[in-house]
Amino acid sequence: MNPEIVIEIEKEMNPEIKKEVEMEKKKEIKKEIKKEIKEEIKEEIKTEIKTEIKTGTNAGNKTIQMACITCPMSCHLTVTLDAEGAVCSVSGNTCKRGENYARNELTHPMRMLTSTVKIENGMYRRLPVILSEQIPKERLFDVMREISHVSVCAPIQINDIIIENVCGLGVNVIASRSMSL
Ligand code: SF4
Repeated sequence: MNPEIVIEIEKEMNPEIKKEVEMEKKKEIKKEIKKEIKEEIKEEIKTEIKTEIKTGTNAGNKTIQMACITCPMSCHLTVTLDAEGAVCSVSGNTCKRGENYARNELTHPMRMLTSTVKIENGMYRRLPVILSEQIPKERLFDVMREISHVSVCAPIQINDIIIENVCGLGVNVIASRSMSL
């Protein structure tokens, strides 16, 4: 008799061998299922990467977190930049000003400045001043230096010009309150 047939018959007759064969079969089936699952996951990942590339959120992009300082709500903004550093999207803002702030902050940041100047004969020794408009952030120290050299005499009315065209920026430093003698 063919030895292979004998083995097969023995297997069929011996319940232990039969059990082992079934276990082996199950293992093989499990392996196949795992392989299929892996392939499915691979396909899902491929699709996700393709979608990310289409929507511009691939690894070449950069995400920046910042707080909007335009109003006291201080919304937490998330800004996505492309590989060239251009703003792709802004999220987390409650109003349009937040998006404008984020875009400006990353291209040409502007700041408002408040300070004080010396005042002679006034009811206080210093007069609060403010800029008439925002200025480029990098010019803040130049303007502060110029303001620190100024002294005025009371009386002063709110919005009086204290320094005209400060640092040649086309912006005035104005009194932010009146001050009598
Ligand atoms: S996004 Fe709008 S509401 Fe939020 S902090 Fe900026 S200005 Fe204020």
